[in-house]
Parts: sequence; C-alpha cells; structure tokens
Amino acid sequence: MTEEKKYPIYRFTAEWDQDNYAHNGTGFSKMYQEKPTEEQLHIELENFKIKLENEQIGFGHPIIKWHNIEYSFIENEVWALIWFYHMTYNKFENDGEALKSFDKFVRRKELQNIEEDHDADYGLMGAEDRWRWEVCHCDGCKKNGWVAINH
Ligand SMILES: [Zn+2]
Repeated sequence: MTEEKKYPIYRFTAEWDQDNYAHNGTGFSKMYQEKPTEEQLHIELENFKIKLENEQIGFGHPIIKWHNIEYSFIENEVWALIWFYHMTYNKFENDGEALKSFDKFVRRKELQNIEEDHDADYGLMGAEDRWRWEVCHCDGCKKNGWVAINH
C-alpha cells in the first residue's frame, strides 16, 4: 500500500500592542500543495500584517507596536489542523475515503501522543471524538479543491 501524500504545513503568528490592549496576538496554519519559496512565505506574512493592521484600525484600536510577526514550518502531513477542523487537498473519490484517511491520521497522532514526550503532544482539538466528524461540503472547500472535516 502506498503512503498518502503529505503536504508542507506552516504556521503564521503575530503579537502586538494596540492602544487599548497590550500583547494581543493571533495566528493561523496553512497547508501548501508544494513546498513554498521564501518569497511566497514573505508575501503571505506581509498580507497577514496588512490584514491585521486594517482589522484593528476597523475596530478603532490601531496597532502601535509590533512584538513579532513570523512564520515557522510545522510538519509535512496528510491533514492540517485549522480551527476545530482539519483540511487537506481533495484527492478522494467520496466522503468515505476522506474519513478513512482522516481516521488513519488521527490514529497516527494519538499513537504519537502516547509514545512521545508529552510537551510535544499534537493537539487534536476534538478530533479524537469520532462522533464529531462531519465532512464539509461548502462552496469554499469546493472552490479551493479542499476537503475539510469539522469536529
Ligand atoms: Zn468547507
């Protein structure tokens, strides 16, 4: 049996001060189809910064000081954790295949969490509860060629 394709996953994080709130921060993970170039990562980071600046101006509390804004490589994996859902590029014939792949992924991470140093535990964010799994069929997923499993 051939191994499933793993995609590079990066995390983008930012921390800043704004006039009403010291040390605010946020971040997001992104899966790429191919290993991104340094330039692609810098563009993503720059867009992230502009988005955050505009958002905070919109809320009436502009960012006054950046502490850091950076990206880091997380891992090559079949599925990426976003926010109470996992996604991957859709190469599945049907939902059943996607769920089977996701089940294999969750089992692998559960095993890793049992065996490895617990400081390095992979947060499954509810994915360990299989009854929560629900394949998303939204237009966004279709448009991007993704399959997402909510949990
Ligand atoms: Zn969706």
